[in-house]
Amino acid sequence: MMQSVFIVDPARCIGCQACVQACGECGTHRGVSMIHLEYLQREETVQTTPQVCMHCEEPTCARVCPADAIKQTPDGVVQTSLKPRCVGCSNCVLACPFGVPKYDAPVDQMMKCDMCYDRTSVGKKPMCATVCPSEALYFGPIDTWQKRRRGRAINEFRFGKQVVKTQVYLVLPDDKPERLEVGLVPLQNWIKKDKDNPR
Ligand code: SF4
Ligand code: SF4
Repeated sequence: MMQSVFIVDPARCIGCQACVQACGECGTHRGVSMIHLEYLQREETVQTTPQVCMHCEEPTCARVCPADAIKQTPDGVVQTSLKPRCVGCSNCVLACPFGVPKYDAPVDQMMKCDMCYDRTSVGKKPMCATVCPSEALYFGPIDTWQKRRRGRAINEFRFGKQVVKTQVYLVLPDDKPERLEVGLVPLQNWIKKDKDNPR
């Protein structure tokens, strides 16, 4: 397993789009950005949050792929689809609980964040985390993060009856439970309540 962890803290995102631009610079996906910058509730707030692949321990995307096109590295990073195998059916796009994979029509293939595996596998930060000015995207030792930040970094989510454990962590306020019940409390509500109390 990697010693560094990837932690996303939505409350720290300032919507600058640096991560989107940096991701697009990566030559392995031909100038297309794989990170999504989402508005939480645009009619009420300008708060944004970056969405990367969460690298689920048991990835739903790979389970529903009829062509076995989505592989997981030995250290648990879920790769984008293999071009020779992907049939462009979009099963993974529909099944991912975090809404991460996108069908790329010009190349007829699903594309998604692979945590810059060419970089992270040799100890470098993913492109997005190198440029994020507010550390909404953090990649490094978890104890360093814990010394500097408040909040609870969780990596367990429940969608209805499905419990999903991920390699990427999401930061919630300290008083929140260790597992996020996404089906019961929409994620944006947690973040919205926390945005007046920046970490
Ligand atoms: S977040 Fe979605 S795309 Fe990423 S590993 Fe999990 S199911 Fe697959
Ligand atoms: S670089 Fe960081 S602060 Fe800027 S939009 Fe991306 S996540 Fe938000």
